[in-house]
Amino acid sequence: MTEKQPYYHPSGREIEVFEHAYTNKLPLLLKGPTGTGKSRFVEYMAYQLHKPLITISCHEETSSTDLIGRFIIKGAETIWLDGPLTLAMKKGAIVYLDEIAEARPDVIVAIHPLTDHRRELFIDKLNESIAAHPDFMLVASFNPGYQKGFKELKPSTRQRFVALPFNYPLPKMEVLILTNETGIDDNIAQKLVAIAQKIRNLKELGLTETVSTRLLVDAAKLIKSGLPKRLSVKVAMLEPLTDEPELIQALEDLSNLMI
Ligand code: ADP
Repeated sequence: MTEKQPYYHPSGREIEVFEHAYTNKLPLLLKGPTGTGKSRFVEYMAYQLHKPLITISCHEETSSTDLIGRFIIKGAETIWLDGPLTLAMKKGAIVYLDEIAEARPDVIVAIHPLTDHRRELFIDKLNESIAAHPDFMLVASFNPGYQKGFKELKPSTRQRFVALPFNYPLPKMEVLILTNETGIDDNIAQKLVAIAQKIRNLKELGLTETVSTRLLVDAAKLIKSGLPKRLSVKVAMLEPLTDEPELIQALEDLSNLMI
């Protein structure tokens, strides 16, 4: 478990919702764009509830075997090795499946019996079901529509979770997050947030993802450690958004007017 309390600034009643989902043993889905504090929120809640947290970052290759476990050969023996999900279920941890929609479909199939009243996992390779420890909780994140041809979560899966929306914080709160996270001056934080606001509102640019709080935090860290402000904005907030030089130039011209 994390030793120091993670810093998390709530934007609504998400802490209360998490606590109640936990008490009622309901799985929780955090929906929203990348870099909006979903992972930080889960770290914070695990700390508050004094529970270990196991994070699994899902990607195209993530299969149920990666989560549940596999047989491995050790010397002359074949032994079973629990995967992170099985381990978490046994010891009563909080599991965070980050970007669940990215995982292979067999992952979704495997977690279904875990997300309803059964709270169990069938391990086909051992031909046995294991029941979740009473303290176990499943949390997943999902980024709706972040790419063209993005991966959706089927309604039958979504409806197994209590869901909380995440979005970019209000400017005042985002300034606070920046100053708390990085120790940067309030006035620079305000400028960074104003640039982010401006770019987020330029919907016509057709960016698949826009400036997230994570990118702002990165820019603030670079500035804090002495990198020039405009260069920090360019490399932390603009370059990650697109590879089109003309677009970068336009965004740079715009942000240079503001910092
Ligand atoms: P996500 O999981 O949604 O992709 P993260 O939780 O990794 O996003 O957030 C990215 C970074 O943004 C964090 O490391 C933290 O610095 C900052 N951050 C975003 N939202 C918050 C918040 N509400 N409170 C504190 N820090 C935040």
